[in-house]
Amino acid sequence: MTRIRTDILISGGGVAGLTAAAGFASAGYDVICVDPAPPVTSAEAEGADLRSTAFLQPSIPVLQAAGLWDRLAPHAAPLQVMRIIDAGGAVEEPRIVKDFDASDISDQPFGWNLPNWLLRREMVAHLATLPNVDFRPGTATRSVLTRESEAVISLTDGSRVSARLLIGADGRNSPVREALGIGARVMRYGQKALAFTVTHEVPHRNVSTEIHRSGGPFTLVPLPDRDGQPASAIVWMETGAEAQRLQALPAPAFEAAMNARSCGILGLLRLASRRTLWPIISQIAERMTGERTALMAEAAHVMPPIGAQGLNMSLADLAALLDLARPETLGEPAMLEAYHRRRHLEVQARIMGIDALNRASMLGDPVWRDLRATMLNAMYSLAPVRKTLMKAGLGLR
Ligand SMILES: Cc1cc2nc3c(=O)[nH]c(=O)nc-3n(C[C@H](O)[C@H](O)[C@H](O)COP(=O)(O)OP(=O)(O)OC[C@H]3O[C@@H](n4cnc5c(N)ncnc54)[C@H](O)[C@@H]3O)c2cc1C
Repeated sequence: MTRIRTDILISGGGVAGLTAAAGFASAGYDVICVDPAPPVTSAEAEGADLRSTAFLQPSIPVLQAAGLWDRLAPHAAPLQVMRIIDAGGAVEEPRIVKDFDASDISDQPFGWNLPNWLLRREMVAHLATLPNVDFRPGTATRSVLTRESEAVISLTDGSRVSARLLIGADGRNSPVREALGIGARVMRYGQKALAFTVTHEVPHRNVSTEIHRSGGPFTLVPLPDRDGQPASAIVWMETGAEAQRLQALPAPAFEAAMNARSCGILGLLRLASRRTLWPIISQIAERMTGERTALMAEAAHVMPPIGAQGLNMSLADLAALLDLARPETLGEPAMLEAYHRRRHLEVQARIMGIDALNRASMLGDPVWRDLRATMLNAMYSLAPVRKTLMKAGLGLR
């Protein structure tokens, strides 16, 4: 069997793996990227990823360096204000509303939001223009063998690839992480997230809103208008059983439930997509690296979708890898050790922060919900604390 040589093999062509392929190809490396699932690139198609991704400020230079941002920017909705609403009182209505405005800390919005299916469409189209990327949808990583000088990856299309660096971007059950014997610590919440799109009466005015009551946050993130109507992506976190019940409701009953949960803040919401269900966990790999291998994105870290952290942390992984990569020392122990040191503690800290926010949002007991509201008031009223929180959320120092 012939062996193909490449600089980098990326296992996983999700949004993180595709961005990594574009990033490393733009930096001059030869890249092969494999994924068993062909990317679904329209909203209507079966299996479309109906989540959206809010790219926060620090992710934009990474997308620019990968040559992707010019393609993505025309489809993005800016996020100028993050509004936190506590609706944890006796009746389901806002009792505390706090606006975190990006203009307090920056002359730019916090971030820009795009549908995930559209990200895949644009990323795959961009990869097709890069001569040094070999993107193989429909092909999976079958086995991995590493030694000091290379990683040898057997693929399901029968080929064997010798790479100086193997990047595991193959999701929360990462086959690469398993092949390398790297453990992962999991925290479970008994929660699921419903992700779907709505149109609404009242324009969102580039405000992203998180409403907290119990079970987890209900988050509305601005999208560009749909057929002339204001539109938002919603992530609705609930206990697993309740989320499943909501998903199975007939559309009119579901619309009534989501309108009650949104407290009417954008007027009447209308369902504009299917409802997809996502299990919620936190997970962190014991190490970000193995011999000739780097883990990134959900292969290395998973967390509840709060504060738009997940994929933004994945792009921070990619930024670190690109920064540390040199053609002559690619995939060598010093590079990988530096990557582990730069990312692992930061990832751990962020997961612990999001874990605490999620647990606070899940609270059902009225006493604890009142305490949560008091804390929100206190943190917001101190301007330095408020600004520090905003910067921390963006990943800025
Ligand atoms: C409801 C929800 C909303 C979210 N919203 C945001 C947000 O606004 N902002 C944000 O930053 N993050 C958000 N996230 C997190 C973000 O979506 C994830 O971090 C991101 O999608 C994970 O990307 P990934 O590429 O690591 O994983 P995946 O998308 O799971 O990709 C992994 C890929 O690996 C492939 N694979 C599996 N096995 C193999 C194999 N053997 N060989 C090769 N490939 C393989 C899979 O087919 C898959 O395509 C959200 C998450 C959820 C659940």
